[in-house]
Amino acid sequence: MNHDYAICGTRNSDIGLPTGLKILQEGGTALDAVEESIKLIENNPYDITVGFNGFPNLQGIVELDASIMDGKTRNAGSVAAVKNFRHPISIARKVMDISPHVMLVGEGAEKFARALGYQEEQIIDELGIRNYHNIMEGKSLEMPLEAQTLVRELFMRFDDHLKEVMEDYSVREWYRKLSFDRHGTTNVIALDMEGNLAVGVSTSGLAMKFPGRVGDSPIFGAGIYCSNTAGSACTGTGELAIRLSTTRLVVDRVQRNIPLDEATKMGILELKQLKEEGVLHIISLDKNGKCAAFTNKDGLFHYYADSSMVKPEKRSSSYVEIK
Ligand code: ASP
Repeated sequence: MNHDYAICGTRNSDIGLPTGLKILQEGGTALDAVEESIKLIENNPYDITVGFNGFPNLQGIVELDASIMDGKTRNAGSVAAVKNFRHPISIARKVMDISPHVMLVGEGAEKFARALGYQEEQIIDELGIRNYHNIMEGKSLEMPLEAQTLVRELFMRFDDHLKEVMEDYSVREWYRKLSFDRHGTTNVIALDMEGNLAVGVSTSGLAMKFPGRVGDSPIFGAGIYCSNTAGSACTGTGELAIRLSTTRLVVDRVQRNIPLDEATKMGILELKQLKEEGVLHIISLDKNGKCAAFTNKDGLFHYYADSSMVKPEKRSSSYVEIK
């Protein structure tokens, strides 16, 4: 069945999607529905993976990545490793709308945001700072003690002895394991009444990441891609989605008439090519308002609403075992 409009998002999007749905109901654009939904999620201090109070990096600093893509024109904008701004999704939208570029990172992105009048502020509160210190002191109940010990060691030796600590430990392997539990990104995909699709993504990335680490979320073709046939976005271990060009391949398959479910599921199955541990959760929406969500981690879910519904409903994402 075809729908006049539809919106979907991954697990922490429920706070934002009702606003996006209302925008679509009133005839607004998919791009506005995506941006406004994500701003509400970025504002939520209890969501520790996106925007305000997102997971800090190894040095206790919150660095945010975000992106937005317009299916009609394939215009795109993203920012990465941005500090001290609450709404990276809006800065990404401005990169798309008014800059000559597609992606701005770090200080350059911050200068751009400042020039446009976005307010700089501390984006971690006492709760976020306490969570960080608990990990550093080995007191966090959410992370294995072994992981907390390694985080502390990495932190203490980061500036002068990083090479040695990486030789002492299998840091790469450890980060992979960490990303299984400490992940979360918000993805929102919308279809408007004009038949245009848009995708937006926002995240603080992997917890305790190296400063300057950028995941898949702001990389077009990896964690986000959109045409007017389908849009797709990922959460999970960003390095894997970058290496596989996950969302570009999903959208390409839909354009070659592979059904949306199959096209999305294949994105998870492609993990087999890497022989490396990690989790991916891919969500896609097509031009008929059909949504698909697949993951290799059991128990994940997403939200979906279309023109026949009054509010978004929670749905289980399909589990695919990777052997
Ligand atoms: N995919 C995001 C990244 O790698 C993080 C996540 O979804 O947990 O930065």
